[in-house]
Amino acid sequence: MTTRWDAVVVGAGPAGAATALLLARAGASVLVLDRARFPRDKACSEYLSPGATPVLERLGGGILDAIERAAHAKLSGMKVVAPGGAAMCGHFVGGGEEARPYSFALPRTSFDTILVAAAARAGAEVRQAASVEDLVWRGRAVAGVVARSGNGKRAMCLARVVVGADGLRSVVARRLGLVRSASPRRIAFTAHVSDVAGVDGVGELHVGEHGYVGMGPVGGGVTTVALVVPLSAVREGRRDYRAGFFDELARFPGLAGRFDPRFLVREVLVTGPFAQWSRTPVARGGGALLVGDAADFFDPFTGQGIYSALRGAELAAEILLPAFAGGVGGGIDPGRKPGVLQGSEPVPYAALAPYRRARRREFAGKWLLERLIGVGVGSPALTNRVVSRLARRPDLADLLVSATGNVVSARRVLAPTVLAQLVW
Ligand SMILES: Cc1cc2nc3c(=O)[nH]c(=O)nc-3n(C[C@H](O)[C@H](O)[C@H](O)COP(=O)(O)OP(=O)(O)OC[C@H]3O[C@@H](n4cnc5c(N)ncnc54)[C@H](O)[C@@H]3O)c2cc1C
Repeated sequence: MTTRWDAVVVGAGPAGAATALLLARAGASVLVLDRARFPRDKACSEYLSPGATPVLERLGGGILDAIERAAHAKLSGMKVVAPGGAAMCGHFVGGGEEARPYSFALPRTSFDTILVAAAARAGAEVRQAASVEDLVWRGRAVAGVVARSGNGKRAMCLARVVVGADGLRSVVARRLGLVRSASPRRIAFTAHVSDVAGVDGVGELHVGEHGYVGMGPVGGGVTTVALVVPLSAVREGRRDYRAGFFDELARFPGLAGRFDPRFLVREVLVTGPFAQWSRTPVARGGGALLVGDAADFFDPFTGQGIYSALRGAELAAEILLPAFAGGVGGGIDPGRKPGVLQGSEPVPYAALAPYRRARRREFAGKWLLERLIGVGVGSPALTNRVVSRLARRPDLADLLVSATGNVVSARRVLAPTVLAQLVW
């Protein structure tokens, strides 16, 4: 069977659901395909940086109310413990009067399901257990996808634009030939544990000689715990990080004795390796773009992935809606039946190119800060030095934590005078 849409969105995580919601609400016909069935788990520390809250507010659709109703935690900042034991704690400050000085943290089973439901309410058709296998081409342009449903049947879904929001191992990015990867290559093991000792209203990052642990409460007495280690350590295969999860945690500063292995309430999920990104988020021949982890994912240390996915969705919608309206048949009619196209040509590269520039403007500082921190935590000596310094400079600690929380611009930390104060 073949169907036609304005947009086929591959992946219903935060990037895909938010993009679909914005396009469908404006009257575009949108099909969302996800190989999973929701609620589905996702390896994640499940902290929404405070910068994500205004984006969720703008998305509307009752999303923030639903988050408030779900079991969740509110975090006021981040604590970092260095390999040598020094500890610093920064709080989210400086987002202006309107800003909420905390981040939401809740299980991805809840959060992602809330977003998918909001996208469906906005008019997107969501098909679950539908795995995208390939792209459909018209000349050099992408013109749709081939998807296999749960019963094994394949269908061709044609679209003016394919939005690749299918995460770290994006099929869309791979088929477009855009995937790149680089050091540091790390693997994550994530779990839910209840009754963890000493958990309070901040997220925690414990940096060790080899890797780090990110953890924080997600409501209902549950703490999400992510152990991130170098790919090389896992490949050597001397230790079983999954079976020995709690023994591994105890090696990190400040974590020994805080967990009871009997209180593991969700199996340990494994994901990676990162870092991985796409050379460009736009298909060179037109007809496709990438959002969220499919476009870039460097390292989970700073916990900015969900914010980037949601903000990237806004940028994508800002570019796509005028591009659709410029198609045959004029502007988008909100009363249109799903699956009925105004124009059927793939959106040309020229109309999509501004998305690339918009991402660069929006994320360049964040990318650089994320990469610097990602590389920095690979050096125990450097981490000891910076954390010791920040422990004595709460103002700098607040600035760094607020920048990684997307409350203030990353550029403020990247100023040479600030970088110098962090290290010397
Ligand atoms: C260990 C770890 C901890 C993290 N902690 C945080 C944190 O605390 N805060 C934060 O903001 N970010 C964190 N992140 C990053 C965050 O999880 C991602 O950035 C975020 O999930 C990106 O959203 P997305 O929608 O792009 O991708 P995803 O959430 O991965 O969604 C992609 C969707 O695509 C679907 N899909 C994949 N392939 C196909 C296919 N072929 N066909 C159909 N569907 C497909 C998947 O089923 C999935 O539902 C963490 C990541 C890791 C690995």
